[in-house]
Amino acid sequence: MLREAWASARDRLADAGLANASLEAEVLLRTALGVDRTGFLASLGDTAPNDRLLAAEDLLARRLYGEPLAYIVGSREFYGLDIAVDSSVLIPRQETEHLVDAVVEYSRRRGDPPLEVADVGTGSGAIAIAVAHRLPAATVHATDVSARALDVADVNRRRHGVHARVHLRQGDLLGALPGPVDVIVSNPPYIPTGELASLAPDVRREPVEALDGGPDGLRVTRRLVRGAPAYLRSGGRLIFEIAPEQLDAVVAAASESFPGAEVTFQPDLSGNPRLVVVDTPAG
Ligand code: SAM
Ligand code: GLN
Repeated sequence: MLREAWASARDRLADAGLANASLEAEVLLRTALGVDRTGFLASLGDTAPNDRLLAAEDLLARRLYGEPLAYIVGSREFYGLDIAVDSSVLIPRQETEHLVDAVVEYSRRRGDPPLEVADVGTGSGAIAIAVAHRLPAATVHATDVSARALDVADVNRRRHGVHARVHLRQGDLLGALPGPVDVIVSNPPYIPTGELASLAPDVRREPVEALDGGPDGLRVTRRLVRGAPAYLRSGGRLIFEIAPEQLDAVVAAASESFPGAEVTFQPDLSGNPRLVVVDTPAG
């Protein structure tokens, strides 16, 4: 019965040290069976087809071997949207949803005309697509150095019906933009190179170019902050994610690049500084 297969998968995941073993076992079984949660719970007393159980066994083996759940099932929820992911993109994080909120909040405060936004290092396209979804008149330029990441972002912008307003551009940071915009938003790679090897096994499966921020973690962030004034219209806003311990260095860099701007930060759900907002003076 399916119930036994679930219990067995759960025990093996728990033995491997996974914290959410029961939920993960359910998600893997549902993926193999092609059923939603309701269908899964309704069929716990049934005998599952053998080929589906073999498929589930295969998915379970991948998980036990350290592949992130989101890569195995092929998606992760971000800002209420189902975002396709594969091993060429970072799996969008919950704390990154605050970047989307900061764009939406700016849009409300500023009013018309519709915003032109740049999402720099878009990866799966999660931020760009959530912004386009929340702001139905906005245009978003989504950039990345990785062509494979942009292929995933393309799937996602079509899946969510925002492909006409989310423009994909390959290139290095702001150089990929057609010109100045109202808002630059970015979740750059910010982990110091020396810390990459000690990250959780799941994270080490993600693309290194999505995580590696150079010796002090700020190599990409500094270039972004230095370059941003030339790509931001007056009164525009720069929003980016940081590691908490980078706050002082980043506030100093932002104040130097944007004299007269208001530099603020916001905490993540654990209360650590995670998001920096630079509001430039209206011209
Ligand atoms: N925006 C996505 C998110 O928040 O889930 C992905 C963020 S991931 C931390 C950083 C992304 O920046 C990766 O997709 C990586 O390929 C891209 N990237 C790294 N260096 C870059 C550069 N110099 N120019 C443009 N994109 C870059
Ligand atoms: N938040 C990610 C992590 O801690 C890092 C993402 C990034 O470098 N922008 O795993």
